[in-house]
Amino acid sequence: MSRDPAAGHTPFDDMPNRPNTITLVGAGLTGPLLAISLAQRGFPVQIFERRPDMRLTRASAGRSINLAVSTRGIHALREAGLWDQMSRIIIPMKGRMMHSLAGELTFQPYGQNDTEVINSISRADLNVALMNAAEAEGVKIHFCERCIGMDWTTGAARFRNEESGREINVDSEVVIGTDGSASAIRQDMQKLGRVKFSQEVLDYGYKELTIAPGPGGKHILEPNALHIWPRGAYMLIALPNIDGTFACILFLSFEGRESFASLDTGERAQRFFAERFADAVPLMPRLQENYTGNPVGSMATVKCAPWQMDGKVLLLGDAAHAIVPFFGQGMNCAFEDCTAFLELLDRHGPDWKKLFQEFEQARKPNTDSIADMALENFIEMRDRVADPRFLFRKKVELALEAKYPRHFVPKYAMVTFHRVPYSVALSRGEIQDRLLAELCDPISRIENLDWKKADHLIHRDLTPLETL
Ligand SMILES: Cc1cc2nc3c(=O)[nH]c(=O)nc-3n(C[C@H](O)[C@H](O)[C@H](O)COP(=O)(O)OP(=O)(O)OC[C@H]3O[C@@H](n4cnc5c(N)ncnc54)[C@H](O)[C@@H]3O)c2cc1C
Repeated sequence: MSRDPAAGHTPFDDMPNRPNTITLVGAGLTGPLLAISLAQRGFPVQIFERRPDMRLTRASAGRSINLAVSTRGIHALREAGLWDQMSRIIIPMKGRMMHSLAGELTFQPYGQNDTEVINSISRADLNVALMNAAEAEGVKIHFCERCIGMDWTTGAARFRNEESGREINVDSEVVIGTDGSASAIRQDMQKLGRVKFSQEVLDYGYKELTIAPGPGGKHILEPNALHIWPRGAYMLIALPNIDGTFACILFLSFEGRESFASLDTGERAQRFFAERFADAVPLMPRLQENYTGNPVGSMATVKCAPWQMDGKVLLLGDAAHAIVPFFGQGMNCAFEDCTAFLELLDRHGPDWKKLFQEFEQARKPNTDSIADMALENFIEMRDRVADPRFLFRKKVELALEAKYPRHFVPKYAMVTFHRVPYSVALSRGEIQDRLLAELCDPISRIENLDWKKADHLIHRDLTPLETL
């Protein structure tokens, strides 16, 4: 590590300069998870994180307060030996509970049975548990250290201390950017002029709100469901927390008649909620305060290539492929990156150049696919889930899956309950959508489903899924 001599003594004076160390940038969700598994394999690992230690400040963990963790994420957590611990702080959600304008409730199960669930977990609790586990494996996390890019001549990562302003260069064997969707490492790679990059920012923003607990700290709505108030052009969702609250997110256009721009005061927001989400309003006693106090977040799909530079630097997680949150897969996908990375490491050893290239080749088609599916799912969630024809097709999908469990697995299930590659889920999903349209369009009752035709179409167009 080289220091700015003008900066004098720093807390880094006692940090050994270890060129064979793996340096991770970002102690969000993916950095600590990858660090744990690397440390378990005997690699010296250090993480540099821009924020202060949230365990000391209890500052917000950044973006959305709750996340849905599903099979891909669970697999990665299990591989790192963490799932048993996490499973104590999750709430399983068995399906979507739709709230109509009139306040009627319709429940649509996610899967075939109670094992096919998604799990609500607090982002902060998960992040803290991951950092604790990383430290327990000997990983050193340096907080308030903002990465300001790479020194491409030496391969050192550059950091600026957020409190003192002192700058350092950190030498290591490889640098892995797990620094999220606005990755500083990626931005510095782009400056070299060798990176293709696209960013599609959604016209919609999001705001976090809270549903208070009921009497005795109990959940006031069904806890084992993801609640949705679908309203066509926008929606409200709520995920249960273990403390009896629900973490809500309002997804709304930035501009327009009903938008964050037009709902610019707490009173306007209150009136809008009273009209559009009437049954939620009595459950949100601090609606106005939450609405005015919480920022509007933005969402984007980020695609780039290459993800690596000369076997020295790699992007992983949102830094390489940020997606919109409507399939609940951003973190699950980033955790699956860790699974894929570790499989290659176990196969090839630390031949970083080969590993990084193979990792990108294997993951890129899949991360591009989930990016597209996540965008499609926005329309499904905010609009189509309120359509009786859509709900009927979902029922037929589950019936077909029950009869042909290896051939016909709904796209949602392939993505959420299996580890079928995302690109396969996307292409099979398109075929299945066509079959469903052919089977469902002429009928309105499941009893009238033409099973002979279904059998013919399924065997004609779909091979058995090998990766179930
Ligand atoms: C509203 C919303 C809801 C979501 N819901 C879900 C869900 O239900 N399920 C799901 O799977 N995914 C969900 N996601 C996506 C999920 O949050 C991300 O995919 C996930 O956090 C990616 O993890 P990461 O480690 O790559 O990045 P992050 O978790 O963003 O971590 C990046 C870390 O890097 C740090 N950092 C940034 N820049 C620097 C720098 N220059 N120097 C040092 N450190 C830096 C940051 O402080 C942060 O700690 C949601 C996202 C949003 C916005």
